[in-house]
Amino acid sequence: MQEKGINEEKILGILQKRLGKDQEYSTGKILSSMCTNPLEISKKTYSFAVEKNIGDESLFQGSVDVEKETVSMLGDLLSNSHASGHIVSGGTEANITALWIAKKQCKEGKNEIILPRSAHFSFERAADILGLKLIEVSLTNEFKIDTSKVRNEVNRKTLAIIGIAGSTHLGAVDEIPELSDIALENDLYLHVDAAFGGFVLPFLKELGLYEGIFDFEAPGVKSITIDPHKMGLCPIPAGGILFRDASFLSTINKTVDYIGLGKVNLTTLQGTRPAAPSIAVWAAMKSLGRSGYRSIVKKCIENTSMLYNELKKLDEIQLIVKPTMNIIGFTCSGMDDKLVVDKLLKKGWIVSLCQTFIRILVMPHTESKHLQAFISDLKEILSSIKESS
Ligand code: PLP
Repeated sequence: MQEKGINEEKILGILQKRLGKDQEYSTGKILSSMCTNPLEISKKTYSFAVEKNIGDESLFQGSVDVEKETVSMLGDLLSNSHASGHIVSGGTEANITALWIAKKQCKEGKNEIILPRSAHFSFERAADILGLKLIEVSLTNEFKIDTSKVRNEVNRKTLAIIGIAGSTHLGAVDEIPELSDIALENDLYLHVDAAFGGFVLPFLKELGLYEGIFDFEAPGVKSITIDPHKMGLCPIPAGGILFRDASFLSTINKTVDYIGLGKVNLTTLQGTRPAAPSIAVWAAMKSLGRSGYRSIVKKCIENTSMLYNELKKLDEIQLIVKPTMNIIGFTCSGMDDKLVVDKLLKKGWIVSLCQTFIRILVMPHTESKHLQAFISDLKEILSSIKESS
């Protein structure tokens, strides 16, 4: 750090220049991100709450109450308005917290977690921190966990099963009701990672575009991750972890004597915790309501279908699976996917190059005109590669 401070004008100038290197959602060219431009109301409310520490209820009781109401609204979205939980830093912290509580709840000696190969890397992190062993199960040709293999893997050391409602790579939704049956039959903890799907599937259901059960409606589900900073259109960081009832959180309760006037109970991994994300999520959910989110999801799904149908027309493109939500995976047959991705990048398009396919997210910041332009550039790239080979 330099000795003397710099004035505001200079600081803002430097930052403006440096952050100018960052991509912006508004270009419509970011097709790789699970996050998007937050709603104005959530940005505004976030900014007036930055000094508030929700970990200190003796000072910020109003914020604590807002978080409770936010959790209750999220619970309502996931078929359980009695759910308890917290707004946390993201899906990673939410998944770690879920497995932490699963471990706390369980008899000693159990340490195996059964999960699909499609699970997010946060479970690897959780296993590492908590001393758990991951038992990875292969996927069906719909990229869902193979439930018959889950049954085979259950043994006396099994602690929990993980189901994914909207996989990171393809948006696939595991058969949660079947996992729920397995969990109940064997007295196992079932956690559902709906970090992405939590703000998509409820609205797809309302639109008549999805029929499955993926949330607390399945009686074996004990906890769910749902991230407002993904399809909830809220500022980062805003993840959500919800438990079926309040008893789960009490297993990690820590009474702290140095906060405020007396004993404060904390049921989170973090001590000092920002109130701003909870306040911003509350504002976004109140502002949009179910109908607002439903129209945003409808637009994303319509754009996804349009892109899927356009890609289907191209001989060189092989689609991985019919999308359930707003995520598409494809490969370019007879071509190097990396070359295609590099050429797209030269034209400004940012897509994800996964291990075996290219992945596109059709988020709220992506308009149909952006996708039309993308298709046109992709066609040009494909024919130029064909010509030069
Ligand atoms: N779970 C799923 C299904 C995800 O797709 C992601 C992120 O992409 C996470 C968890 C982790 O979320 P975060 O990056 O907010 O920690």
